[in-house]
Amino acid sequence: MASELEPAVREALANAVGADGLLIGAAQREAYARDNSGRRFLPWAVALPATAEQVAGVLRVCHQAAIPVIPRGAGTGCVGGGLAVQGGVVLSTQRLNRILAVEPADRLAVVEPGVVHGELKERLAAHGLFWPPEPSSSRSCTIGGNLAMCSAGPNAVRYGVTRHWVLGLTVLLADGTRMRVGGYTTKGVVGYDLTQLLIGSEGTLAVVVEAILKLAPVPEARRTLRIVFRDMEQAALAVAGVMGRGEPPSALEFLDPAALALLRGSGAGIECHPEGQALLLAEVEGTLEEVDRKANGLRERLLVFDPLEAVVAVSEQESKKIWSARYALSPTLTRLAPRRINEDVVVPVSRLAALVAGLAVIAKETGVPIVSFGHAGNGNIHVNLLTDPADPTQERKVVGALDRVFDLVLQLNGTLSGEHGVGIMKRDYIARELDPGALALQTRIKQLFDPRNILNPGKIFPVLHH
Ligand SMILES: Cc1cc2nc3c(=O)[nH]c(=O)nc-3n(C[C@H](O)[C@H](O)[C@H](O)COP(=O)(O)OP(=O)(O)OC[C@H]3O[C@@H](n4cnc5c(N)ncnc54)[C@H](O)[C@@H]3O)c2cc1C
Repeated sequence: MASELEPAVREALANAVGADGLLIGAAQREAYARDNSGRRFLPWAVALPATAEQVAGVLRVCHQAAIPVIPRGAGTGCVGGGLAVQGGVVLSTQRLNRILAVEPADRLAVVEPGVVHGELKERLAAHGLFWPPEPSSSRSCTIGGNLAMCSAGPNAVRYGVTRHWVLGLTVLLADGTRMRVGGYTTKGVVGYDLTQLLIGSEGTLAVVVEAILKLAPVPEARRTLRIVFRDMEQAALAVAGVMGRGEPPSALEFLDPAALALLRGSGAGIECHPEGQALLLAEVEGTLEEVDRKANGLRERLLVFDPLEAVVAVSEQESKKIWSARYALSPTLTRLAPRRINEDVVVPVSRLAALVAGLAVIAKETGVPIVSFGHAGNGNIHVNLLTDPADPTQERKVVGALDRVFDLVLQLNGTLSGEHGVGIMKRDYIARELDPGALALQTRIKQLFDPRNILNPGKIFPVLHH
């Protein structure tokens, strides 16, 4: 399919980013047509700016021509956020990949948005520091994607999510105007907090071109615990018990019976009690002196909930094995059930037991297999609804089951997404969760930032009010 860009616009874009910075060929554009949502939308062109000034140039051209601009990092997003759903120009940050400064004394780093999370992690490790938000996609996802989605990983139990680790941003508005928000300090209360508004805005309000990230010291030591229960409800009660009292672990993950079966069959050599129907993985961290005491203390707290076994991993190697098997769950499921729906709902931890019980009922009554695992310490569970492409009635059943999952989560005072965001996959559901006044205000904020609706149009909101 030919690019739908007018020749004059194409020329202006090539002037903005240089001829080798503009991809027009169908095969080149194809590489930017998908993300982890499984959907495909071919952009009209892909711009590869290497400087913030070039990003501004692309925005100016597109703003004037009223062409959609879709900011894009590594394309690992799960909700279609980096896809050109209304056509337009994908603005890739892959050449904006410089770590501009690491300031150990101020515990901050200044980076461009295309820096890959795992590369930043390696660079910071040399200073004994790290940037705590750590999605499981660390090896490929970018900091820009993390900021836009407010991403997080297992350690969010202790450290929180992306928004807790950003001091300031430099962004470009839809017309290319540069704006700096926040700054270099860990305290600051002057004016509205626009940094926090921009984090999690999914590329719909502005393009991030630079970020000042707050850093933490790498803990000296970690210990991993494996706790096996005879049923899911008991495991969920244990999570609420541990999170409700005492120092929280740095990670607390949950696997239901189907996820546990995947883990057992993964060939990773993870041994756990054969009668176990639910697994918790926990991690504690601290100084070398204190970490064993912390691990044993947590084990004692978990024993109250009568697990079949509660084991502290003896070696670093064993810990690594457990965590890599946990991280392999999502890709394994994608391989086994390519058309699964992967939700990332959240409930208060005290309602986890009600959530897992409710999910079991929904699976039984709808006939849709559900596999659940995830960040239990935050009440954030990946609920995977498996579809059978061979069964034509299955699609309808899955939509019905999903509807019931969302109703259940909202009844339990939860939220529809803890980390994947809305994008195009959940935009039809957000009105169920958001207060009508808050939703109306959000659409007005979008208009104020982007009156021509060129920045990532068609994302987040069910209907855009002009
Ligand atoms: C195997 C796997 C595991 C994952 N695990 C996790 C997990 O543990 N936790 C989690 O939170 N997520 C997880 N994800 C989802 C995904 O990795 C994150 O959302 C990640 O932050 C996306 O980064 P990206 O660079 O791929 O962004 P993309 O997918 O390219 O884009 C995501 C969004 O960010 C916007 N964007 C990108 N760059 C900019 C910018 N510079 N300015 C403005 N907007 C921008 C895009 O427009 C889009 O809306 C996982 C995905 C996979 C495939």
